[in-house]
Amino acid sequence: MSDAGIEPTYIGKNENLVFIIPNELFNMSLGPAEVLDRETAKLFSKYLRGTFKGFQQSRKTKYGNENNTKTETTSDFWEQFEKKASGLDVNFIGYTPVNENYIFKGLKVYGKNAIVLAMEMKWDQIKTAPGAICEIEVFRVYKVLGDVTIELAEFLKEQGYKSEAHHPFGGKLLYGPHAIAANLGIMGRNGLIITPEFGPRQRWSIITTDAEIPKAKERDFSELKEFCERCGICVKECIGGAVLETPIKKGNGVVTHIDRSKCIQSILDNNYCSYCLRICMPSS
Ligand code: SF4
Ligand code: SF4
Repeated sequence: MSDAGIEPTYIGKNENLVFIIPNELFNMSLGPAEVLDRETAKLFSKYLRGTFKGFQQSRKTKYGNENNTKTETTSDFWEQFEKKASGLDVNFIGYTPVNENYIFKGLKVYGKNAIVLAMEMKWDQIKTAPGAICEIEVFRVYKVLGDVTIELAEFLKEQGYKSEAHHPFGGKLLYGPHAIAANLGIMGRNGLIITPEFGPRQRWSIITTDAEIPKAKERDFSELKEFCERCGICVKECIGGAVLETPIKKGNGVVTHIDRSKCIQSILDNNYCSYCLRICMPSS
């Protein structure tokens, strides 16, 4: 029996996926060039603290599922659920079975299906990257989407469905391949999921659940795919030189687009960087 009082649905087995959030990212402060007025600094601190707190809270949503055995749903149920999500500022919602291959090694996931959620990061702030204004927006969305993901997972649990929230700052499974499987976007050359609406300017989260899910909606991304293949701006202009010209295919379907250590260094050196969110053409 697991520590949540029930058996996990999956335990990650993919040797190529190890969950690490570098400690530095939990201890970041703005560089000397970024002197913020008192109110802005307070806001930034609120979103940072809210993100880290939500991340911890989401890891506890596996609890309280002991009696959640319901699986059947109706189209009305999902209509109401989507209405609720959109009232909480969720921009995209999609559905796909959990792909075991994309669960981080050794992590326990509760629920066989994935509800994929996304929330926009606003262009007016993102276009200022790299810098504090952009990062306040990045962390605002981490916090708000994190809270919403937890709220919706708790709602599903209250309805009797075994469910677990996976925070946008870091979940137990990869969001990108699940967002693609749910037909919500494509993998950009910058290693981020891009959409026709916002380019890479959205954050993703997942709720895993045993609730039966609707079919993924059909969407045509052929124009966006062609555009991205031809573009290559992120490869040329990434501040940290971290976007790989040719992605590296690891085993079990994992593809690396970014040199992670170079990217993290640039995040630390350049006030969270995020320049790739600004320069991706479909973004604005
Ligand atoms: S965050 Fe900066 S270093 Fe990392 S991929 Fe984006 S532009 Fe490059
Ligand atoms: S900047 Fe261009 S190549 Fe890079 S992800 Fe965006 S569209 Fe694709």
